[in-house]
Amino acid sequence: MKDNVLKKEFSKKDVQRARNLITGNTDSRTSQGVGYTKKYEHRKEGDVWEEDGRTWTIKNGVKQNITKMDKFKKMGKMPLFCPECGTLMKKHLDKKVFPAYQKCFDCVVDYEAKIKHTDEHRKYFNNLRNSHVDHTIEAFTAYMKDKMSESNANYVTEAGDVENWKGGLSQEDLDKELQEGLEFLKSMRIE
Ligand SMILES: [Zn+2]
Repeated sequence: MKDNVLKKEFSKKDVQRARNLITGNTDSRTSQGVGYTKKYEHRKEGDVWEEDGRTWTIKNGVKQNITKMDKFKKMGKMPLFCPECGTLMKKHLDKKVFPAYQKCFDCVVDYEAKIKHTDEHRKYFNNLRNSHVDHTIEAFTAYMKDKMSESNANYVTEAGDVENWKGGLSQEDLDKELQEGLEFLKSMRIE
């Protein structure tokens, strides 16, 4: 009896494998049924069915969840009252925001206004600004170092004088410019 079940299970896998081969889907797993105790139902390409409260389909020989359909389902399941403030949700905009926010439009507006002042929001924008400043510091430093080495390579060895270079600026001048620039840029960071 058990042997029989195993044989049956095996042949199901073979069928699945064969189907995958036919649809050109050689990479797809054929062992999806391991530990799967539910009754096997034959599904073919394009079938749509409900399982575990979600909507599934077979696409390219692989079982896939339909998220879009889930969203539509949620929309249809919109409660009469906002779960957050208890207001009767009758506005057109309530219907629009509910699937994404799970609350009424007014609550979403409040929520967005509140989040703008939260630490998290501030931190996010501070980090954004700092990373921009850091990037500028990096680029500026590289640019200045380049200028300095250029002055060294071209003028120091030939003229034997560090202060004597292209732009009329000495190595010290350049270094001062670099330090001042860095100081200014670092002051732009928000700690
Ligand atoms: Zn509400």
